[in-house]
Amino acid sequence: MTNLSSLYQDVILEHNRSPRNFRHMDQADRHATGHNPLCGDQLTVWLKLDGDVVSDVSFEGSGCAISKASASLMTAAVKGKPRGEIERLFQRFHDVVTGQQPRAGEESADLGKLAVFAGISAFPVRVKCATLSWHALKAALEQDAASVRTE
Ligand code: ZN
Repeated sequence: MTNLSSLYQDVILEHNRSPRNFRHMDQADRHATGHNPLCGDQLTVWLKLDGDVVSDVSFEGSGCAISKASASLMTAAVKGKPRGEIERLFQRFHDVVTGQQPRAGEESADLGKLAVFAGISAFPVRVKCATLSWHALKAALEQDAASVRTE
């Protein structure tokens, strides 16, 4: 059993301290807000679309280190990628943080640095922090203007 401090690995700490793509986007095509009432995390994700490709993505908000670092790593991971690939990445990420095995078709989704969140699976409450930005991104992609909750 890992302890909570082992969650805060270097990558998470670093991204919490200086999150990537942490800015309001004025000319966004889509945006969505996510709220995790269990922890108090709240963030907005903005994106620009070039056809099927997310050409730019940013976020802003406040919350715990995990939610912020996850959003930072997410923006870095999805920028420049087509929608289908992002959906596979989210599915794979979700399975990793909830401790599930890859499903058919997910093996090709390379998590890269997102794999640091695998330790979250030992802390179910924290899964909602780690996936909040992804749910917001998904809502933005599906143009669901309503805010999302990771309950
Ligand atoms: Zn949180």
